[in-house]
Formats: sequence, structure tokens, C-alpha cells
Amino acid sequence: MVFFSWRILNDLIPTDDILNLKGLKVPSRCHLCKNNQESSDHLFFRCNFAREVWNQLISNSNLNLLNVGWGNLKDSLRDWQEINLMPLPFIVAWFIWNARNKLKHEDSVSPFSFVAANCRAYLHKLINWKKFPQILKVMNKIDTQNPMVIKVRREKPPYPFIKINTDGSFTNKKAGIGGIFRDHTSKALLYFKAPYITEDALETEAAGLYWALKIAKDVKWLCFIAKVDSSHLVELITDTSSSPWHINQWIYRIKKIITEIKFQIKFNYREANRPANFLALEGSNLSHAVVSTIIPLPLQLLTQGDKLQIPYLRIQN
Ligand SMILES: [Zn+2]
Repeated sequence: MVFFSWRILNDLIPTDDILNLKGLKVPSRCHLCKNNQESSDHLFFRCNFAREVWNQLISNSNLNLLNVGWGNLKDSLRDWQEINLMPLPFIVAWFIWNARNKLKHEDSVSPFSFVAANCRAYLHKLINWKKFPQILKVMNKIDTQNPMVIKVRREKPPYPFIKINTDGSFTNKKAGIGGIFRDHTSKALLYFKAPYITEDALETEAAGLYWALKIAKDVKWLCFIAKVDSSHLVELITDTSSSPWHINQWIYRIKKIITEIKFQIKFNYREANRPANFLALEGSNLSHAVVSTIIPLPLQLLTQGDKLQIPYLRIQN
């Protein structure tokens, strides 16, 4: 990606206009819209395909890009720098460039929603590695001007639903998944934790949810409310939008199981997902999976607040 960014800035991305400059006369037509001449400015900003990708990204965040000089990356670099979002145009350009190459060389079409989902997955990865703190603020729809405290309420599931909180823990060294099942009285019924090998945070979350559903199906609990703290995962399961390639298999498996049970999935703030968070972290340090109905003391304590319906406080700034 760094190399790709450097190539864009030095006109080394072989779009048709650059090839022409270098004396290679090729008939130029943008592969994505089939309407215009291909140039990097067109491909990454002006093309209808690029606009759709940007639109999806912007509508899924608080990005305010009004003051960015669109259309030419090199001239607008200072604008991007000023709003601390310098890596963003390169990330978008990278995935558009991949989509363009797939179409040109393999004749395979990637929908713009897929490209936007890949950009989002990449951003989530950066957020997880804390490499790009500024984007965290805009992607989580947090208003930086008005810090506020939200009470995060936990709801008990209505009878006969079982509530399942799942989570994934991901660092560049190891990953783990965990989940806890509770009934309508908030009584903990079963928990699991396991180490896992995954590509990124989103995949870890997806794996956690899949295993929770698999366990539930095996013990024949068929009414479910799943709570996860990844809004991206909720989106991928409830929308028909396509998921990043490495998540596809998980979404497919999850969707297959949920056709057989009564299922709802809801987003949960991390603060309200502490027991699952704790289990996922423990799971990442294990050498094997643990599934048990005997709830250990630390986990019991973490679930106490839920029984008493004490809200967590979440501070947004
Ligand atoms: Zn185009």
C-alpha cells in the first residue's frame, strides 16, 4: 500500500493516460464506466464507479469532505493532510485499482459496494492497530464537538429467547473468540472461549458469532438474540451488500444457520459486551477451545451488572 501510494504520486500507476505519455499508444477507455478516457484522476475520483464508492464510505461515516479539492489527488494532498485523513484517498484508490485490474485482466466485475466494503474492512484493521486514530473518530459517528455520556442499557431477552454475546479479540500476534449464553432472567447458561487464526478483527468477530450459532444449534436452543460490538458485522449479516473476500465464507455459514432458527442480531457497545470481551481475550491465550456450563467466578462477577440491569456509562468525545 505504501508503495502503491508512492507510485500514484509519481505517476507510476499504468493508467492509460500515463501509458500514452510514455509513448505506448493505447485506445483509452475507463474499464469501470466505459465512458471516459482513463486517467488516475478519473479512475479514483471522477468516475461514476469511484463516486459510488466514495458515497458509500461517506454515508457510513461522519466524513466531512466538503473542503477537499476533488478530482486531483496531488493538488488536494494538503487538504487531506489538514483534516488528518491523508491515507484515505490512497486506500480508496488501491481498492478501485484492484477492481479495475480484475475487470481488465480477468473480466470479473466487482460491484462498488464490494469495493467500499473492502475499504471499510481495511480501515477497521487500521483502527485496530491504532495506526490511524483520526479515522476512528469519524467512522464511529462520534461528534468531536460535543462530548457526551450515553447510558448503555442492557436488555434482558424476552422468553423463550436466549441472548448470546459474542466477541473476537485480535492483535497482530494472536486472536481469540468468546461468547456467553444467557436466558430471559440473565442467568448464564453456557460460555465458550477459543484461540483462532484470522486475518483481521472483523473476521475474528464473524468467527465468534458463527461458533456461537453452531453451539446453540447443537444444543437445540433455537430462539436467539445475538449481540456483537461490531456494527460492520451486523451490517454484513442484515444487508444484502457483499462482504470483503475473506469474510464471505463466514457470512455464508452464518446466514445458512440463521435460516433454521429464530434469530435477531443487534449491535452492542463494547462497554455492554464485557463478558464476551473478557472471554475472547482469554481465548486468545489458550491452546484449545473451552465450552462449559460451569461459569467461573470472574465471569459471574462480570455478568452481575446485567442481572441487576445497571447501565454502563459510555463517554463519547
Ligand atoms: Zn470511469
